Amino acid sequence: MTTYPDLKLYIGGAWRKTAEELPVLNPADESIIGAVPLAAQSDLDDALTAAAEGFRVWSRIAPRVRAEIMLKAAALMRERVEEIAYAITLEHGKPLAQARLEVVRGCEFFEWDAAEGQRAYGRVIPSEPGIRYVVMHQPVGTVAAFSPWNFPMSQPCRKIAGALAAGCSIIIKAAEETPAGALHIARALHDAGVPPGVFNLVFGVPAKISGYLIPQTQTRLVAFTGSTAVGKHLSELAARHMTPVLMELGGHAPVIVCDDVDPIAAAHLSATRKVRNAGQVCTSPTRFFVQQDIYERFTKAFVEKAQATKVGNGLDAGTEMGPVANHRRIEALEALTADARARGGRVLTGGERLGNRGYFFPPTVLTELPDDARALREEPFGPMAIINPVRTVEEAIEKANSLPFGLAAYGFTHSAARADQIAEGIEAGNVGVKDSGYGREGGAEGLAHYMTVKTLSHRMVI
Ligand code: NAD
Repeated sequence: MTTYPDLKLYIGGAWRKTAEELPVLNPADESIIGAVPLAAQSDLDDALTAAAEGFRVWSRIAPRVRAEIMLKAAALMRERVEEIAYAITLEHGKPLAQARLEVVRGCEFFEWDAAEGQRAYGRVIPSEPGIRYVVMHQPVGTVAAFSPWNFPMSQPCRKIAGALAAGCSIIIKAAEETPAGALHIARALHDAGVPPGVFNLVFGVPAKISGYLIPQTQTRLVAFTGSTAVGKHLSELAARHMTPVLMELGGHAPVIVCDDVDPIAAAHLSATRKVRNAGQVCTSPTRFFVQQDIYERFTKAFVEKAQATKVGNGLDAGTEMGPVANHRRIEALEALTADARARGGRVLTGGERLGNRGYFFPPTVLTELPDDARALREEPFGPMAIINPVRTVEEAIEKANSLPFGLAAYGFTHSAARADQIAEGIEAGNVGVKDSGYGREGGAEGLAHYMTVKTLSHRMVI
């Protein structure tokens, strides 16, 4: 079945519509494909009440049983992959094959965390006879989560899986522009038998929802993925209430290309990665620093590959890159291109919207930009690459580290010494160092954010 779902909130184990709605657009043709309900304060109050009860129930369920429900939900999402992928392509624009991969990735987050939640071991600290010191991990409580529009399924899955595996309840505000992914997660959890209130899905006016949920004493963790500016604002709000945060924010990933590699192969791989999700990935490779000897050949091959990318509707067979998600991205990319031109940079390909219906923007390559060009300082969050020559690896590392971001970074070399130099020298953490955020998502480290550490000292005999 390939239809766009009827969008609803999911609160306390039940679906609901609301009085206010926003249209959802297909970015490939700007047609209206659905209406997303916006939560009022009373809906949020209901979600908080439900989440309090959900936490009470879920935190007392054996981790093995929690895992069974999560795995069942993941299995249902796998069964429904075609239906979910179709909805994601309609609302987001990415090619169907990428949407399918995203659904599978979302399921993998559930599967990994379901297992990891059963291994949230504590410690027994050796001490004198008759006294036992025990360190145990407990779920933090209700999580308020905010997920972005670039991965409608896998981004919410990450946060939901971490929270549920740890034994927390969660209220997630997923992206209003791409709500179907989160809706399908809710459907799968509901069908898998998650108790009411453990998982709650809302949409609404983002600032109103965060402004109401974050100050609640019941909220014990704020998990956000999105822009650095919004992340800083939400962190400030949380700090006023001493509420911990998990922030996955913007990046502007550097790529260091050393002169000992095949420039054609490196360029082809880079250009392919650049256009994935139309460049709207926080870890998208963007600032290329290429050693002088191979700079011309690398750039030429990159431009050829970029120009050969088949841009179109994500539902059409053979499409390699869909539209960008919304009109804001077109404006941002055109502004960065205009600024690059004004500062003497070269636009080797792309730089202007394709057509006037649908948010299509071609793969764009800018070169010879001065360090203060906006495209080198602001995350383009689109199919834009900036390629500049460097003399040495040291110079490349210095330029790579020159921004306040520190999310992802890449390097191409066949030399173990240079690989080590890049690995040691680059300031990036893949989920947050510097302005790119705080904390980790995924793995044992990710789960730890959803848990609190309790130390007990137990005297056996008084
Ligand atoms: P934006 O800053 O307006 O919004 C970013 C996200 O934050 C959106 O999902 C939005 O709904 C949410 N948001 C905004 N204000 C909020 C508030 N007060 N409370 C709660 N949530 C709020 O930017 P945008 O135009 O939607 O996206 C473009 C920028 O966002 C990009 O430049 C990129 O840096 C960043 N972004 C990053 C990721 C990521 O994976 N790290 C994902 C999507 C967007």
